[in-house]
Amino acid sequence: MSEIFRMSDDWGKLQAQDEIVIYGVGRIGHRVIPTLAKEFHIPYLIDSRPFETKVFDLDVLTLEEAIFRLQDRKAKIIVTTVRAAYEEIAKTLSGFGFKEYEDFVWFERFAGEWNLRWHNRCVLSKIDTVITSRCTLKCQNCNMFIGHVKTPQDMEFDSLRRNFDTFFASVDFVYEYTLLGGEPFLHKNLMEIIAYLGERYGDRIGRINLISNGTVLPNDKMLQMLKQYQVTVHISDYTCSLHYDDKLKKAAETLEKAGIEYYIIPNNNWKDVVYPKLTYTADNPREHMLICGHSTHSVDNGRLYWCDPAFAAECFTGFQSKADDSLDLEANRKNNSKFDASINILKYLWGDVNERGYMSICVKCAGTGKDNNNVVIAGIQKKG
Ligand code: SF4
Repeated sequence: MSEIFRMSDDWGKLQAQDEIVIYGVGRIGHRVIPTLAKEFHIPYLIDSRPFETKVFDLDVLTLEEAIFRLQDRKAKIIVTTVRAAYEEIAKTLSGFGFKEYEDFVWFERFAGEWNLRWHNRCVLSKIDTVITSRCTLKCQNCNMFIGHVKTPQDMEFDSLRRNFDTFFASVDFVYEYTLLGGEPFLHKNLMEIIAYLGERYGDRIGRINLISNGTVLPNDKMLQMLKQYQVTVHISDYTCSLHYDDKLKKAAETLEKAGIEYYIIPNNNWKDVVYPKLTYTADNPREHMLICGHSTHSVDNGRLYWCDPAFAAECFTGFQSKADDSLDLEANRKNNSKFDASINILKYLWGDVNERGYMSICVKCAGTGKDNNNVVIAGIQKKG
């Protein structure tokens, strides 16, 4: 057994429809709980600061409210949050006597390890694909460096198709597949992209997401397509710096009326990642990468990238990545057994990206982790 596995052996006894408890009812929880609920029995949910008392018809409790039930029934806990929040929750749960990997585990590890180790399936929590560098906005601090792209363009539909095929030749299931840009609603083939992904791989995706800035209204045909493949639209709200409140409201109303699930994501603050200015150098790039909040794993041109900005820097700004900064999925699949190829994918996504331990772009990108205090207002437009 590979040393990368950490969960205690009794997780292997967990069967479909057994009881698990989900901790984390934020953005990630909302996106993956419906899929987890099809696989397991979830009696209730836990959140550190619940905003709702019921989600998906399940009671949302604080840890203090749930503690006796947890200690009594010994149900396994899966924490559905971003890595930084997980680390805080892990400390709290440890304080109550729960053991990491034995009693509780982070969702990203659960999805990967439980499925591969006991079911020989390569399952990922989330993956993104960048489909265009065209955008209606030119945000000065865009993490995808869109304002620095000389000739914005859509990714060719054929190349996106190949990318999806390569990904699903290696990965059995992904809880969330997110399409982003730029502004994805500008892509001239978006209908075909969604149809291809939904038709071919819909049964291997928990949820298809699309991230928009809310400035482009989808037409009726597009709305039909979003509905058919149950695409969730996440609208980034930049009204803190841009005056498009009416447009954003209209976008939300249009989706609501069409019965499409959508979320408005308030974006008041961003971190200035400094790159493509070359005035930042990470002292300890491995640690810097691991604590970066931008672990939005991405698959583009058949390669896995630890984060979306790593692909964007290479593709949109000409950053000279090293070959081992990303993982070539096709070569990995051809040169390894299914199990070993899956291990390589999980190792990469869990932070062992290469021998160095970090992507070369992380040396020049200040990232969005707690080691970057350079907070800026979201959505400020680039001049010129
Ligand atoms: S520091 Fe590294 S991991 Fe973080 S956003 Fe930049 S390139 Fe991505």
